[in-house]
Amino acid sequence: MLPRSDLRIPAYARKYEELKGICIGGCVVKGYGKNYDGQQWYSRRIDEKEVAHAHCVSAGVWFGWICSPYKLILTNKWLLKHELAHLIAEDETHKIGHTKKWKETLLMIGGSLDAKSLTKKWEFQSYR
Ligand SMILES: [Zn+2]
Ligand SMILES: [Zn+2]
Repeated sequence: MLPRSDLRIPAYARKYEELKGICIGGCVVKGYGKNYDGQQWYSRRIDEKEVAHAHCVSAGVWFGWICSPYKLILTNKWLLKHELAHLIAEDETHKIGHTKKWKETLLMIGGSLDAKSLTKKWEFQSYR
């Protein structure tokens, strides 16, 4: 688990206050508990089906964390910016996912909506 201040996180990502930290090797959330507002949360499984995810519900205790099984999250800017945009784009409507706002945010921070291959196994589809 790397807090935002950790120098292994690229400088372009550390400047965003929305980022709390990056968890490599699994999900930062272990187990389950209750939010400030009494909502139940559970650990999000992270496995072969997911290259990374962002905890992007601002009411959540784990808001601001990006989790990935792979160190790639630190070195691949397409992947990291994709997840960062989820954190930054979250708004009062709590609309999450690949929304219009997410797309605008991703472009604003220098990401790309084009298809990208991340590893042999993982690729992003085009989000255009
Ligand atoms: Zn997680
Ligand atoms: Zn996404």
